[in-house]
Amino acid sequence: MGSEIIKLAERMQQIKPSPTLAVNAKAKAMKAAGADILNFSVGEPDFDTPAHVCEAGKAAIDEGFTRYTAVPGIIELREAIVKRFADDKGWDYEPDQVQVSCGGKHGLYNMAQALFGPGDEVLIPTPYWVSYPPIVLLAGATPVLVPLPEENNFDLSAELLEQYATDKTKGIILNSPSNPTGAIFSKNALDAVGNMALKNGWAVISDDIYDTIVFDEGPVPHVLDVDPKLKEQTLILNGVSKSFAMTGWRIGYTLGPKHIIASMNKIQSQSTSNASSIAQKAALAAVSGPQDFPIMMKESFLPRREYILSELLSIDNISCVTPNGAFYVFPNMSAYYGKSVGGKKINGSVEMSAYLLEESFMATVPGAAFGADEFVRFSFASSMDNIKEGMNRLKEAIAKLA
Ligand SMILES: *Cc1c(COP(=O)(O)O)cnc(C)c1O
Repeated sequence: MGSEIIKLAERMQQIKPSPTLAVNAKAKAMKAAGADILNFSVGEPDFDTPAHVCEAGKAAIDEGFTRYTAVPGIIELREAIVKRFADDKGWDYEPDQVQVSCGGKHGLYNMAQALFGPGDEVLIPTPYWVSYPPIVLLAGATPVLVPLPEENNFDLSAELLEQYATDKTKGIILNSPSNPTGAIFSKNALDAVGNMALKNGWAVISDDIYDTIVFDEGPVPHVLDVDPKLKEQTLILNGVSKSFAMTGWRIGYTLGPKHIIASMNKIQSQSTSNASSIAQKAALAAVSGPQDFPIMMKESFLPRREYILSELLSIDNISCVTPNGAFYVFPNMSAYYGKSVGGKKINGSVEMSAYLLEESFMATVPGAAFGADEFVRFSFASSMDNIKEGMNRLKEAIAKLA
């Protein structure tokens, strides 16, 4: 440290390295050394981008569609996004209420920069997606973690909101279905959010990135359905990363009030300019083309969810909320904290994940990364064979703890 001449910006003191990194780095090193690692830590579908989408990307290159585009994204794509939401959800947006960004995460970053600053508090229901607190911190605002009770299926409530809201609260970030829990907020929870947002003028960010991966029948409650007035203070985040297995293409989009989208466009114009022209053409094929791919993906995840959930619940003292969407299970493994193996004690989720990696060659993500140390996240975007083998290994590893 002492030999470093250039001091880092003050803000770097607020950003901590992700607790997932240690386990990840170790998993990679073990794999490189030839170990048979089962990877349950991945946050992306185990499918390839559909062929017609790839073809659209290739055609964009061949046609020379390789230059800067409009900052908020090509108009065809924004129109297709507007039409997709109108057809699927009955929402009424204009193309100038849409920003296409370099992935959904980047859309969130633009939003936070446009909306939040020093003195503002942002409510983050916890367990949260890893990037929400740092994105709020990088905007100079304060993340306020709202702990969701496992006993209540990680649902929000008016009581919880009232407990954590202050007169500094500027907004709330919702994620339903949730990464890491798979939980979907109930209509009651969203009524509470919507009503408090209307009363107090909060910005509501609804991260709907997993909205095509829902296992329950029937409509998924959405905050926009609480009251039409909420449209003026709600930002919808979505993208093709999860729905079309396009994580590497980096296309996300935000729908929201015109003046906020315009501000986000200012930020984007001074940072990344536009998302990749080629990836935008591919996303256009995804959004405007046939929608059977996300349905096929969801149907393939369902038996995996059933299997992994029943296996986890068959282990003594592990509880697990049924994920109603996304492709993660988030079992509570804290009954095994404090136990030891080979003279080493497991004190929390980071050590539990490290143990599963060393003992059973399975990579998971410690709940601490999501602000919930009692839990460990397993992705079931992995083959049924891997899941079966993984659950056998897990049971053996757990049996050794005493
Ligand atoms: C994957 C994911 C996103 C978006 O990811 P991008 O790859 O940046 O499009 C947003 N929110 C959650 C909760 C996610 O899991």
